[in-house]
Amino acid sequence: MNDKKGIEVLKDMRLSKSTAFTAEERENLGLRGLLPYAISSQDIQKKRAIENIRRKESNIEKYLFLSALQDRNERLFYRTVIDYIQELLPIIYTPTVGEVCQQFSHIYRIDKGFYITPEDKGDISTLLDNWPEKDIRVIVVTDGSRILGLGDLGCNGMGIPIGKLSLYTAGGGIRPEHCLPVMLDMGTDNESLLEDLLYLGYPHKRLQGEEYDEIVDEFVMAVQEKYPMALIQFEDFITPNAYRLLERYQKKILCFNDDIQGTAAVALAGIYTSLRILGGSLRDQTIMFLGAGSAATGIADLMVTAMMEEGLTMEEARHKLWFVDINGLVTGESKNLQPHNKPYAHEYKAMGFIEALREIRPSILIGASGAKNTFTKEVVELMSAHNERPVIFALSNPTTKAECTAEDAYKWSDGRVIFASGSPFGPVTINDRVIVPGQGNNVYVFPGVGLGAISVGARYLPDSAFLVAARELARQIHQSDLDAGTLYPKMTSLRTISFEIAVAVATHLYQLDLATLEKPRNLRAHIKSMIYDPTY
Ligand code: NAD
Repeated sequence: MNDKKGIEVLKDMRLSKSTAFTAEERENLGLRGLLPYAISSQDIQKKRAIENIRRKESNIEKYLFLSALQDRNERLFYRTVIDYIQELLPIIYTPTVGEVCQQFSHIYRIDKGFYITPEDKGDISTLLDNWPEKDIRVIVVTDGSRILGLGDLGCNGMGIPIGKLSLYTAGGGIRPEHCLPVMLDMGTDNESLLEDLLYLGYPHKRLQGEEYDEIVDEFVMAVQEKYPMALIQFEDFITPNAYRLLERYQKKILCFNDDIQGTAAVALAGIYTSLRILGGSLRDQTIMFLGAGSAATGIADLMVTAMMEEGLTMEEARHKLWFVDINGLVTGESKNLQPHNKPYAHEYKAMGFIEALREIRPSILIGASGAKNTFTKEVVELMSAHNERPVIFALSNPTTKAECTAEDAYKWSDGRVIFASGSPFGPVTINDRVIVPGQGNNVYVFPGVGLGAISVGARYLPDSAFLVAARELARQIHQSDLDAGTLYPKMTSLRTISFEIAVAVATHLYQLDLATLEKPRNLRAHIKSMIYDPTY
């Protein structure tokens, strides 16, 4: 128990209830005189908070208000975020978090998170002792090299681990004190940042090669030593590093890459839901990706696993999947392919995107290119000409990078498209019908996977855990969601969805003998008991 009194209580974000302290608490804690007369319930405080947020004119201002609230009264912050998740998710995460990262060094005001630079080499384990919490269960780490679809933002990318961990708590119920946001600030190749007087990061070109790997390795080892039960989520690393690090650590420690594996599970869940409308199974589909980076190939790899469970061989499954990148259709002839592209480089003649659509006639088109407006009218019309109900996912984030808007996809397909996006779009009215487009947001998956993994003390996370998560998410989508035209469940169910995914993943990990903790008699009750409740 802590013995803080008076103003120290009010300045402690974990202890403070601000105006909600009762008369008795005010007396006992030495708070009389430090607060206005009225005692607000948390509910009233929440209403005050949302009123303040709504009054702010820009999303960045809303973000800053919320960030300050988190620092003043953490439980009120989470109560507000959980109860207004639909409205606040686009503020604490994409798209606003993208703007926040772009302006990070200019709007910086609160010290949050843990920063490691090349100058810390050899000291990382000791530095971690400076972090005030000792029982860390989830770490989100980035090196800022590919923030959303916005490129290299260097240390400004810290907004991403902070935002994702808020969602681990709001969505998955992981206790905030168990979360650690980390920026591996290895420099930046973004010239405009290096020239910016206010830039807060390590002001050098990015560290590369062996030196880079050594620091990542030192960090990973320090985490194993200090927090052996912690899950590390790799986030927004440039694709070659994302794959390399995942390959190196995936089976050695408890970790995953959300851009590759989390995205894959969310997208696959959306495809399973689309199949409920289309009929047929995944193995019957021809799927084309625009973009051949970590998001797209991550989805493809998980689809291959899923199709193999439907009876196809690996080769047959891979042949259902086609990629178009910045240079056109990915084929055996394509130059400079990365290892993760090679399995999908089929023997075929070189051609551009439109020609590939005409020839290959995919039933499903998935955009993960970071290139806005690439799903033109011609693209949507071609998809609609070849398919009664074309499936089109424009997954690039933030909203400004989406391959097309929801409205254009519905308009150009005369309402026939089955659509999902990475960033949120508002409702669209087409042919007198109001459609609420679904957002394939990774938040549907990572908090639940994380909760499931740490609840059993997982040794590592196999790919199959993400297939389990995808299926469970698809199961959570109700007919009423489908009737509204959306492929994903309501964000207001996020806590339930995360819990169910956690139970499914934990069960799977026990089946695979990947859990280090003894199986509790009642797994659901065990996981429930871990969940953070911000109510006071
Ligand atoms: P990446 O940089 O690794 O890959 C981008 C790929 O797109 C490359 O293969 C590149 O050749 C290709 N590309 C770029 N411009 C193109 C163009 N004009 N035409 C065709 N191909 C083009 O990036 P990534 O990590 O794979 O992420 C891609 C996008 O997916 C980002 O915008 C990211 O925000 C988004 N994403 C969305 C979700 C989600 O919605 N749940 C999750 C993860 C990533």
